[in-house]
Amino acid sequence: MITLEALQQAITERIERYNQTDFPVSKRRVQTIDLLECQNHILAEDISSPFNIPRQNVSAMDGYSIAAGSALDADTSIEIVGESQAGSPYTGKLTAGQGVRIFTGAVVPDDGDTVIMQENTNFAEIRESIDKSQPYHITLTQAAKADDNIRKQGEEIAEGEVVLQKGKRLNPADISLLANLGVAKVKVYQPLKVGVMATGDELVAVGQPLQSLAQIYNSNTPTLKTLLAGLPVTIEDYGIIPDNLEQTIATVTTAMNECDVLLSSAGVSVGDYDFLTTVIEQLGKINHYKVAMKPGKPFVFGELLGDSDNKLAKPVLFFGLPGNPLSTLVGTLQLVTPSLWRLSSVSADDMPMVRTVQATLDNDVRKSAGRKDFQRGVLSQNSDGSFTVKAFSKQQSHRIKQLSQANCLIVLAKDSGNLAAGESVTVQPFPWS
Ligand code: AMP
Ligand code: MG
Repeated sequence: MITLEALQQAITERIERYNQTDFPVSKRRVQTIDLLECQNHILAEDISSPFNIPRQNVSAMDGYSIAAGSALDADTSIEIVGESQAGSPYTGKLTAGQGVRIFTGAVVPDDGDTVIMQENTNFAEIRESIDKSQPYHITLTQAAKADDNIRKQGEEIAEGEVVLQKGKRLNPADISLLANLGVAKVKVYQPLKVGVMATGDELVAVGQPLQSLAQIYNSNTPTLKTLLAGLPVTIEDYGIIPDNLEQTIATVTTAMNECDVLLSSAGVSVGDYDFLTTVIEQLGKINHYKVAMKPGKPFVFGELLGDSDNKLAKPVLFFGLPGNPLSTLVGTLQLVTPSLWRLSSVSADDMPMVRTVQATLDNDVRKSAGRKDFQRGVLSQNSDGSFTVKAFSKQQSHRIKQLSQANCLIVLAKDSGNLAAGESVTVQPFPWS
């Protein structure tokens, strides 16, 4: 059985080929969307700044802007002849020995070359007696240097400079930058179309009544949709497919003609009613089946290629998740989400990171060697910043209440055996925790 790391590597290599030859990033469709909708979309153009930032020389402080050529020693007296506010600059002339009151972000007068912070003047003593309609004098309480406290025009961003590159996964800080540049619309890659199907005769859609005690609700589809909600994908829901060869063929055929990627849950074990692997082999191929992880062993990675009448223009990548809700969730986090990001045209150095922390086990943990375990637990942070994790004592993959009580996965190496309280383990906090 392939290790999780080897499977992740194999999928990564397949996706790199897909991005280069099957569906080159350079040929992907682009769409223009509003700035406020672009979070987690992938930028499809370089963005260059339409102007300098700062746009002009502006003050970094509240204080006084002093004319070029003025003495700047301690005890110098400066005549204050006006004011420059953010949004309304001082437009008059200044000569040596003169200055204006200025505020953070306000334009430095043409004749000014220094800003003295008000704390370095006698401002506090005279503030009550100042009549702003008349010139008044302030005294420097310490020496200053020309150029102090000025943010120079274009100092951070020059007009025309590329500030964001094609392939960037747009985040709140990028949106701040774009808004500062006045960008209202951005070109992003069109989201990939991801088909989702659940399989199983026992399944009923949430919202419909259960008809017999043998029926259960389809929880995997809502789980998958929620897990993928922050990704640049649109989801096509193919509903629940009964355990029936013809209907499975029909749905997979529709999906492969409509989607870039197909995700399924269940039907990939070796039961008599698990048709999905047969159908994938009929309409494409299985690249990998079963992975040495727990939960989530019966995982399928394959591709749909079409049939004799209808060969697809490009393969549709297929991820077959196991049926157990917990296995679906863990398999999606470890294998599907990273793959969809990789397929999304995001630049290689902007792939989302999998966050892990080292934590001390609070209790003994049972583990048999052979598969990489993702055990559920509750991670907590201690007052010194270190982490402690408590593993649930029962770890079967049908435990759904426990999954909701957990806030992390405890990652235990494939060849590891039992672990004792006090040992250090790697923990993946859930992305939502
Ligand atoms: P299977 O892979 O078809 O053998 O399913 C494994 C287990 O997961 C069985 O107990 C199924 O009833 C359950 N299961 C399969 N699909 C779903 C689903 N969409 N939602 C909830 N449970 C499921
Ligand atoms: Mg089944």
